[in-house]
This record gives sequence, structure tokens and C-alpha cells, in this order.
Amino acid sequence: MKDTAKHQGLRNQLATVLKAKGITDENVLNAVRKIPRHLFIDSSFESHAYQDKAFPIAADQTISQPYTVAFQSQTLEIKKGDKVLEIGTGSGYQTAALLELKAEVYSIERQRELFKKASLFLPKLGYKPKRFIFGDGYKGLPEQAPFDKIIVTAGAPFVPKPLLGQLKVGGMLLIPVGDSSQIMTLFIRKSAKEFEKHELGDFAFVPMLEERN
Ligand code: SAH
Repeated sequence: MKDTAKHQGLRNQLATVLKAKGITDENVLNAVRKIPRHLFIDSSFESHAYQDKAFPIAADQTISQPYTVAFQSQTLEIKKGDKVLEIGTGSGYQTAALLELKAEVYSIERQRELFKKASLFLPKLGYKPKRFIFGDGYKGLPEQAPFDKIIVTAGAPFVPKPLLGQLKVGGMLLIPVGDSSQIMTLFIRKSAKEFEKHELGDFAFVPMLEERN
């Protein structure tokens, strides 16, 4: 595992690219400047790690595009001590961004291979979520609810009801909804029964899959 001045330079450039695309939150940009993304992907793709692109990881999944990670992090206004549920750990890059923003993170992944990999790898880099969970994100994490923020990093065919129910009043769920492409959708819980909904543009994610046994 190597992180060099060259990688640092590429990260600074990536942050500049994201800024030009509309990421204004300095804490988010600093996270991009800090997290060694090249260590989260297969070494054969190392030279592409700091381009603003998604890449294949294990189990037919992808590491999200840096812009998407920055956009989701910025939209959720993550602040120190926020209790955050992440659905779709994947490579753990988004998890690392949430931890750089000083959130308390619970992260669920349904592919055992990715769950195992991320739960060993992230702590080695000093990224320690409260818990890694191997399970089905459609159900959320009732035993730890309610959450300040819930972030879904896979394309959901519909909005899972349990996730809305596990938000604090004032809390936010950010979820890409759709089949072949997705609309980034933000729900803000206004009261026990009321949610405000905002649609924030088109994105492309791998599908959120039903639980397998
Ligand atoms: N933020 C991750 C994105 C990975 S892609 C990264 O940047 O690396 C989406 C991830 O969601 C995949 O790892 C996939 O296995 C996972 N996933 C899909 N359906 C899921 C479900 N029902 N519950 C939990 N994780 C799921």
C-alpha cells in the first residue's frame, strides 16, 4: 500500500474538477484531497483512480464516481457526530468520505466478498465505522434507528419504507430511484408522518438487489 506525492497531486486535481462541477463544500473537497482512492480499486486501474469515473470492483459492482460521492456527501450536509446509515459499502470509498466528515457510520453490504474486503481494509487506513453489517439494505438497521442521515449508494427500484421510518424528525434520506437510470431523490422527515421530497437530477448506479440467501 503506497501513497505518494504524485497521488496527492492527482487528488488535488480531482478536487479542482469536482469544484468546477459544483461541489462547494470545503469539507467534502478536503475529504477528496485526503482519501487514497487508488488503494480502493484493483491495482490494474491505478492510473485511472483519480479520474472522475466509476470503476469495476469485485462481485460485479462498482466504486462510485467521485462526483457522485461528493454530491451525495454535500447534499446530506454531513456534520460531526451525525449518525449515518449507509446502504452499499462496496469498496468503502463513500464510507471513508463519511468518516472524514466525522459522522458515526453504520454500513450495510449484501455481497459477502465486498463486506469482508471493506471491513478488513478500511480500518487499516484508519477508517473505523461504528459497524460493518453483512445484510439487506432494504430493511435498514432497525436496532440502531433512528438516524440523522441515510445514504443509499445503489439504484433502488422503489423507496424502501423501512428506510423512511428509520429517520429522525429533521433527518434526510438520499436515494437514487429508478431502474436503468436513477433520479437522485432527497426525503426530509418533517414530522412523524410528513416527508418533503426533492428530485436532484439523473445519475447512474448499479442496481440495489433483493436479499439473497
Ligand atoms: N459507495 C460504494 C458503491 C458501491 S456500488 C463505492 O463507492 O464503492 C453499490 C453497492 O451496493 C454494491 O457494493 C452492492 O453490492 C451493494 N448493494 C446492492 N444491493 C444491496 C442491498 N440490498 N443491501 C446492501 N447493499 C447492497
